[in-house]
Amino acid sequence: MPSYTAPVRDYQFLIDHYMGLERYAEVEGFSEARDMAPALLDASAQFTQEVLHPLNAVGDKQGLKYDNGRVTTPEGFKEAYKQYVEGGWPTLTWPTEFGGQGMPEFLNMPMLEMVCSANLSFGLTPGLTHGAVHALLVHGSDELKQKFLPNMISGAWSGVMCLTEPVAGTDLGLMTTRAEPQADGGYTITGNKIFISAGEQDQTENIIHLVLARLPDAPKGSKGISLFLVPKFLVGDDGSLGERNAFQCAGLEHKMGIHASPTCVMNYDGATGYLVGAPHRGLPAMFTMMNTARLYVGMQGLGVAEAAQQNAIAYAQERLQGRALSGAKFPDKPADPITVHPDVRRMIYIMKAFTEGARGLVMDTALHIDLAHRHPDALVREAADDYVQLVTPIVKSFLTDGGFETASTAMQCFGGYGYIEEYGASQYLRDARIAMIYEGTNGVQAMDLVGRKLPHDTGRYLSRFFHPVDQFIAENKADAAMAEFNKPLKQHVKYLQQATMWIGAMGMVDPNHAGAGAVEYQRMFALVLLAYIWARQAKLALQLREEDPAFYDAKLATARFYFTKILPQTTGLLASITAGAAPVMAEGGF
Ligand SMILES: Cc1cc2nc3c(=O)[nH]c(=O)nc-3n(C[C@H](O)[C@H](O)[C@H](O)COP(=O)(O)OP(=O)(O)OC[C@H]3O[C@@H](n4cnc5c(N)ncnc54)[C@H](O)[C@@H]3O)c2cc1C
Repeated sequence: MPSYTAPVRDYQFLIDHYMGLERYAEVEGFSEARDMAPALLDASAQFTQEVLHPLNAVGDKQGLKYDNGRVTTPEGFKEAYKQYVEGGWPTLTWPTEFGGQGMPEFLNMPMLEMVCSANLSFGLTPGLTHGAVHALLVHGSDELKQKFLPNMISGAWSGVMCLTEPVAGTDLGLMTTRAEPQADGGYTITGNKIFISAGEQDQTENIIHLVLARLPDAPKGSKGISLFLVPKFLVGDDGSLGERNAFQCAGLEHKMGIHASPTCVMNYDGATGYLVGAPHRGLPAMFTMMNTARLYVGMQGLGVAEAAQQNAIAYAQERLQGRALSGAKFPDKPADPITVHPDVRRMIYIMKAFTEGARGLVMDTALHIDLAHRHPDALVREAADDYVQLVTPIVKSFLTDGGFETASTAMQCFGGYGYIEEYGASQYLRDARIAMIYEGTNGVQAMDLVGRKLPHDTGRYLSRFFHPVDQFIAENKADAAMAEFNKPLKQHVKYLQQATMWIGAMGMVDPNHAGAGAVEYQRMFALVLLAYIWARQAKLALQLREEDPAFYDAKLATARFYFTKILPQTTGLLASITAGAAPVMAEGGF
């Protein structure tokens, strides 16, 4: 049975020191958020450790029941969701006018990670509701907002996102679901959607479907898609629940992982719907909420990685096999713990370098989302939004790739005991895999990075990363203690600039050059971004060491591992990127 301890200490370090929140005292909500953080971290840890984590293996083993359109979630899930709602957890960041608490996004990140670590399947339903609330807040009419948002924000009702159809996955322009205007100003929705997470479940009184569909006069392709709100139960003007709407869950998919999250086939049969935003502008409406949605999916990778890593380290510290290469470390025991072996230590440091670096990245990203919404200075808002645009595909892809890789490394630490079901390592591996696929596959994220984000306004987004990192390098040039981090950072930033220029120039000659190296470029960018994050954490560790030597020495050891053992991978990626399109576009290889 796996265990889970929430990483409260690391989050407190990030909030107190790493994020530099003291620079933003004037930003609304920031100082309250800092004051609330310790109590909130403890409460999040308690709820996720005690309520959600024990249900994780139950959900994996029991799975879901489907009976004639109804879905029953595993034992304990409904009650846990009720507790989640009663605790006010879904309301934290939403506007007070609709019943939210108006807190900044960065304060939501620790709970989000903890939920994903403790029980990823459970986390999907509130995660999707978050996306649906966001889309409605930005694009819904006042009437729709008043009628639906308070119950969705409280968690009494859930929200789901219905994009995918059998023939329309990445290419949503191929979708065929139809919307017919009605005399009363509403619409009827007819069509089939597949893979709809939480499209049907038994945890909430109502389920609000946000469905992409085509109006009769819609142009072909992605420019002809509109967004509709389609509630499971129609809602009266007084907010009361009325008739069941004309759609049904026709079945559940059987999946590799996230067994407690219903992945539904949905049939809409003339269902009543309401237009959200302008006609034919459904895709842009969905994309406005993509930044937070992709950050949230990235958190799924981090959350699973943290849980898998914790269990692997605990196991490795207990498991006795072989002797240290330099001679027995525990001669009184039948063998040494496997943590004496360089390869096991290598695996543990790889996992820690990923999870703690990734945590810095999500907190940076959430902070920039908050600054983009709340900072009083328009120029700061713009710069922060540019940064978010740039790093969003990197966060989504690097954290979800890393989630799966870490779960696999954790399994390797367990040896054969990782592959059997008893220790839970296999569930983490199975659960983590999907996050690399949904919310835009990681290959599609890479195309977004090289195709849209790099060229935007002749590199304006890029400057939001390169300028601060150059400034950091210059500021720390004379600091001898920082040299071991600062010098390689400078070198690898140069390699990244080289790769960026190559992609930019050669992509204009032939777009396949950019496409062929996009995934490698995305990873290279992530590795250099993480080097910047680790250099900042190392600097703080050097400054604050006396306050908590064990915590900061561990940070320094992990930072040193990152700079010497992981960051050098960028040179191989650079070579692969600049090999260009020819090797992958070669005809006759398959
Ligand atoms: C468990 C689960 C839950 C899901 N939840 C939801 C949900 O709640 N709502 C919803 O609407 N959908 C949901 N999905 C669907 C998911 O978002 C899609 O599976 C995903 O978008 C990919 O679409 P596809 O499966 O059709 O793959 P395809 O689009 O067919 O892609 C196949 C491969 O081709 C690549 N590819 C395709 N086009 C391009 C391109 N232009 N450039 C480069 N590479 C390309 C992809 O990267 C991928 O590797 C879910 C799926 C699963 C499995």
